[in-house]
Amino acid sequence: MAKPIQAIRGMNDCLPEQTPAWQQAEAVLRQLMSSYGYSEIRMPVMEVTGLFKRAIGEVTDVVEKEMYTFDDRNGDSLTLRPEGTAGCVRAGIEHGLLYNQERRMWYLGPMFRYERPQKGRYRQFHQFGVEVFGLNGPDIDAELIMLTARLWKVLGVAEHLTLQLNSLGQPEERAQYRQALVAFLQQHEDRLDDDSRRRMHSNPLRVLDSKDAGVQALLADAPVLSDYFGADTQAHFERLKSLLTAAGIRFELNPRLVRGLDYYNLTVFEWITDSLGAQGTVCGGGRYDGLVEQLGGQATPAVGFAMGMERLVLLLDTLGLVEPQPALAEVYVAAMGEGATVAGFALAERLRDQLPALRVMSHCGGGNFKKQLKRADKSGAAIALILGEEEIARGEVTVKYLRGQGEQRTLAQDELIEQLKQEGI
Ligand code: ATP
Ligand code: MG
Repeated sequence: MAKPIQAIRGMNDCLPEQTPAWQQAEAVLRQLMSSYGYSEIRMPVMEVTGLFKRAIGEVTDVVEKEMYTFDDRNGDSLTLRPEGTAGCVRAGIEHGLLYNQERRMWYLGPMFRYERPQKGRYRQFHQFGVEVFGLNGPDIDAELIMLTARLWKVLGVAEHLTLQLNSLGQPEERAQYRQALVAFLQQHEDRLDDDSRRRMHSNPLRVLDSKDAGVQALLADAPVLSDYFGADTQAHFERLKSLLTAAGIRFELNPRLVRGLDYYNLTVFEWITDSLGAQGTVCGGGRYDGLVEQLGGQATPAVGFAMGMERLVLLLDTLGLVEPQPALAEVYVAAMGEGATVAGFALAERLRDQLPALRVMSHCGGGNFKKQLKRADKSGAAIALILGEEEIARGEVTVKYLRGQGEQRTLAQDELIEQLKQEGI
C-alpha cells in the first residue's frame, strides 16, 4: 500500500467533532459585530511580500522569521498573510474606503506563520480581527475593548481573562525614549541575552518584551516610556482609562506591553488568560495611526485588534463551555424494497419543504429492515419513517418511535406533517 500523505506540520484539520465549537464561537462573533454596527470585509490570503515588510516592519519576528514567502510562476514574491491588518489597510486604500470616512470592519480567516507548532501555536491559525478607520479615539479605543469584554461575557469566559493596557505614545516621543533606552541597555550590555543584544540596535523597544528573566530584572531600572509623553498622549491615555472604568472594565497597566508588530502608537492592549499554559494571549491590538499613510494612503487614524480563534476555542473546550450538539437527525426516512428510494426521497423533500428547520436524514445504501433501523438508531433520530411497498401503494407511512416515546403506527403521508408539528418536532 502506498504511504499516506499527511497534512503539513502545524496546519490542522478541523474535524466534524471539532467544528461545533468553532461554529459556536463564530456565531457569537457575527452577532456581536452586528450589534455594534460593524461590517465584514474579506481579503485574499496572499499578498505581495512588500506589503507585509512595509506594514509590519523588517525587524520584527513575523517578517524576520515567520513568513511563508515564495516566488510565484512569474517570479513575483508573494506571502501567505501572517496577519490581517496589512491586507485590510491595502484593500481600504485600493478601494477608496478610508479617505475622509469612518469605517468599522471585521474579518475572520486563516493566517500563516512559520513558528514552532505547540499547543495554541500553529502554522496555519485563524484570527478574528477588527479594524476601525477615521476615528482618532480614545472613545473608539474604549469601544473596541468594551466589545471584546462583551464577547468574553457572552461566551462565559470573562473571569478567565484579564486586560493589560499600555500606551506607546507617539513616534516622536518613542524616538526620544528609544535613545534613552539604548543608552541604558548599552551600559548594561553584559546582562543582555543574545536576542536582546541584537534587538538593542534594530528594535530596542522589543527588548522590553524579552522572556529572559535576567533581562526582565535589569529592566526594572530602565527608563520608562511614559516619562516622555507629552500632554496630548497623556490625555488620550487618561481618557481611555476613565472610559473603561466608567464601563466597569478592569485593567492592569503594563508598561512593558509593546506588542510584536511595529505599527502601533498610543493605545495597546492584550487579553491574557492563565488557563492555556504558555500561549496565554488570546487577543491583542492597539492604535496604528501611521500605517495608512505608510502604505501609500492619505493619513487616516486607525485602531484594531486580532484574536486567535484556536486559543479561544481551546479556552471554551478547556472550560467545558462548548454546547452539547443535538443529534444529526430528528427524523430518519427508511425505505424498503424496489422503487422505495424514489418515494423515500420524495417524502424527505416534502418534509423539508414544510418544516425547514427539521433535521431529516434519508437512508442510502439499501439493505433490509434491520439494517436500516440500525442506521436510524445510530443517526440519533427520535423517529424512523418507514416506507415499505404497502405504505407506498396506499400513500401511507409507518412512524416508529426509536426512543420509546410512543406506539408504532401507520398514517396517511398527508397527516404526517400535522402529526410531527403536534409532537413538537
Ligand atoms: P504571541 O505572543 O503568542 O506570539 P503575537 O503577538 O505574535 O502572539 P499577534 O500578532 O498580536 O500575536 O496576533 C493576535 C493573536 O493571534 C494572538 O494574541 C494569538 O491569540 C493569535 N496567534 C498569533 N500567532 C499564533 C499562532 N502561531 N497560532 C495560533 N494563534 C496565534
Ligand atoms: Mg508571535
